Amino acid sequence: MRLGKLTLAGVLLAWSVVGWQTAQAQHVDRLKSLQAEIYRAPERADQAVAEAQSAGWLDDWRARLLLATARYQRHQFEDSLQMLAAAEPLVEALDDPQPKAQLQSLVAQNFYRMGSMDQAMLAARAADRHLQEKEDRALRAQVHNIIAAIHLASGDRDSARTHFEQSLALFRAEGSQADIAKLHNNLGALLIEDDDLDAAEPHLSTSLELARALGRTTTIIPNLVNLSELHARRGEHDAARAAIDECFQTANASEESHLVWCHEAASVQLQHAGNLVESVLQARQALAMAERFGLQQHVVDTARSLAQMLAELDLHEEAVAMNDKAFVTMNAIRDQLLKLRLQQSNALIDYERARAEVQQLQLQDRYNRRNQWLLVAGVATLLPLLLGSLWLLRSRSRVLDSLAQANQRNAELALTDVLTELPNRRALRQRLQSAALADDGSHRLALAQIDIDQFKQINDRYGHEQGDQALRRVADALRRVLPDNAMAARWGGEEFILLLPEADLDQARRICLALQALLRKPSQGDPVLTVSIGIACGSARQAEMLVTTADAAMYAAKHAGRDRIEIAPIDTGADVAERVDTNQIPS
Ligand code: GH3
Ligand code: MG
Ligand code: MG
Repeated sequence: MRLGKLTLAGVLLAWSVVGWQTAQAQHVDRLKSLQAEIYRAPERADQAVAEAQSAGWLDDWRARLLLATARYQRHQFEDSLQMLAAAEPLVEALDDPQPKAQLQSLVAQNFYRMGSMDQAMLAARAADRHLQEKEDRALRAQVHNIIAAIHLASGDRDSARTHFEQSLALFRAEGSQADIAKLHNNLGALLIEDDDLDAAEPHLSTSLELARALGRTTTIIPNLVNLSELHARRGEHDAARAAIDECFQTANASEESHLVWCHEAASVQLQHAGNLVESVLQARQALAMAERFGLQQHVVDTARSLAQMLAELDLHEEAVAMNDKAFVTMNAIRDQLLKLRLQQSNALIDYERARAEVQQLQLQDRYNRRNQWLLVAGVATLLPLLLGSLWLLRSRSRVLDSLAQANQRNAELALTDVLTELPNRRALRQRLQSAALADDGSHRLALAQIDIDQFKQINDRYGHEQGDQALRRVADALRRVLPDNAMAARWGGEEFILLLPEADLDQARRICLALQALLRKPSQGDPVLTVSIGIACGSARQAEMLVTTADAAMYAAKHAGRDRIEIAPIDTGADVAERVDTNQIPS
């Protein structure tokens, strides 16, 4: 079953391949027959090409190359070159170097026929370069042929012969009989120029035989022209005339413009025969026809030849006129060539511009796509980063929170006395400073400096622990007597300060008496504590100065026997104390 399916698939595949090959072969066949049709009747090329195009099987570039070929065949070189300039962008856009070589080869042929050997050589060399990328033996043979022809026209016969021979070998390998005929003719023409008539003859005979068999008039006519010259040079005038007669017959039966060649050949033959007058007549005919068909190179060549013969016949005025004609025509050719070169370079510039625009669009597209990709990649990369950052921020804020808490704690610790948990000396100073700064002069402040009496003895008698315990007891007692807005702080050692905003001396004294009362009634096992207190009262602005005043009052209490309250006078220092005897002696 499976095998059956596979076999069926294989058959279907083979069938489709065969079908494709058949379609390809059909396409090639149709193309070949169209080419042959155009070759036979180049004047009907436009119609044939238009039909093929509307049938939808002929590419635009192929159509233009065919039309250019037809124009070349009809000696419409300028038209042909214009068509090729229009085809060039289409051909350049193809990946295939073969059509490029084909186009350049045709450009070279046109320029060659227009007498522009430098342009012809440039195009031929361009074709040769394309062919190095992709071998096409027939086309390479064609290019060798045109290069050889250019060398021959430029007088470089050795190079011409080399290229003709290479071309012939390639055409032989291809088995292209029509081209073999053409090359034998070309080699024959070269050998006639070399005056090697015996070597030329077999080439021309072979060529003629082949061309006749193939019915290639475009080869037969130049071949007959060459043959007539060969015979004329040898003095075989009958044979020469026979060739010329055949030339006229062939030309009449095919392309009228070919008659120019025949008249030229006849003129040459008559010259060799010494019949200058008849030769001039034939040359005049050739010139008239060349002018009629716009074959300018023939006009130039024939006009020059005529000028020479007319001068020999002492018809100098006419000779000068002929030279003028040659000169004017040459100038016209040069102008046309310049115009063509301009058109060609404009077509190339347009093509380059279009290609640059396409490239620009492609780059823009690639740039946009890369940006889109970058955006996606960016989002893909940044999203985790963003989430990570958020997470970091959150944990950072947690860290910051705990740091702030720690700082707060540190700040609190910095302002708190560890043992008694009362605000410490620094905290009290800050409070005094801010009270002084905030005061507009209307606020009053009472400050009590409190020092435990004979504290050293407590330490000594009960131990340091009990000393600490005593300090905590004083702190507790202070907290108990402390009004809402007041502050009790450990000033250092066994000294404390009570800060009583808006309190007067009486209020301060009452609080201090309450403190002393508490300390006198210890819980079980604790020693009785007495304290000496100095009270100062004044403007909040002088808060810091009040510490010194209260301290002095406290020392005054010590000196007065301890366990008592001394009140500093309001406006003076601590020297004059208001003595308050609380009459308490520690037990
Ligand atoms: P006076 O009545 O003249 O004030 O005598 P006093 O013994 O209280 O004063 P003195 O300055 O001679 O001694 C103070 C003692 O307080 C000395 C020191 O060891 C003790 N003291 C200071 N800070 C602490 C503390 O934090 N804990 C304990 N247990 N003792 C402390
Ligand atoms: Mg002390
Ligand atoms: Mg003391």
